[in-house]
Amino acid sequence: MPDQKNILVVSAHAADFVWRAGGAIALYASRCYRVRILCLSFGERGESQGAWKQPGMTIDRVKEIRRTESTRAAGILGAEIRFFDSGDYPIQPAQETIEAMVMEYRELQPEFVLTHSFLDPYNPDHPTANRITLETRVYAQALGYPAPGKPLDAPPVFLFEPHQPEQCEFKPQVLLDVTPVWETKHKAMESMEAQTHLWEYYTDLGKRRGTQAVRNGGSKKIKYAEAFQRVYPQVTDQLSWANRSYSAKFAAPIPTSFALSASRASQPSMKHRAEQVSCGLTCVPSIRTRNSRAWQSQFPASPATIS
Ligand SMILES: [Zn+2]
Repeated sequence: MPDQKNILVVSAHAADFVWRAGGAIALYASRCYRVRILCLSFGERGESQGAWKQPGMTIDRVKEIRRTESTRAAGILGAEIRFFDSGDYPIQPAQETIEAMVMEYRELQPEFVLTHSFLDPYNPDHPTANRITLETRVYAQALGYPAPGKPLDAPPVFLFEPHQPEQCEFKPQVLLDVTPVWETKHKAMESMEAQTHLWEYYTDLGKRRGTQAVRNGGSKKIKYAEAFQRVYPQVTDQLSWANRSYSAKFAAPIPTSFALSASRASQPSMKHRAEQVSCGLTCVPSIRTRNSRAWQSQFPASPATIS
């Protein structure tokens, strides 16, 4: 679909994308982006504590529980999800998985990519996901790589916030205002019943990053935010805030009922969205002319606050 804008999210385990980037996913889904999540592992060994406390649990049953939870969460956020079942502790992707990810890049041509931090001494699978994401991005760019589709341009890659950022050398360079979709993110978190202990933790983190977003020049209406770190240099012709694209109007609540009308669904892109997701958001095309480059156009020497 020529006018369809896409983003790609690579998640090591079944729930990582929910805690760390659920707001970004819901926000862009609400703007009619096609958001595609590649989930490398179900997290069946390391991140399924609640499931393993149930009597008679098996590895296959844990995988099925996590797949169900993760699929439900992705749907709430308005995203598609694909599972690769690459093992857990450690994730060991097959060559077929690498090639499939290259094809995903080339087919989607994402505007930006979200994934894990470079380091995480608490979970080696997270840096593995980072490495695979960056490696396959490079392969997808190479003219000589034997995969169908147009070679990838250079979409920016943003690292989402790890559980203990100080230990992971994570530096928040971008604070994304996710206030309009916070209720949706919280619903997605609640669908991850194997990790109930994280619901409150990530709610507190969202509030803290929201407070910091206001402190760093964002709208006073910001209540919740998510932090990201860039991987590659930002290309811009603006080093000031004078032309920033942030607009307070996007801090207004987005309706939580998915009310895609028949007339809107009859439009090609909207019909596509209706088929792809069944989420808690109304898909609202952005009216900002610079929206598609919003992630590119902010200078993050100090934490930048964007919508
Ligand atoms: Zn994880």
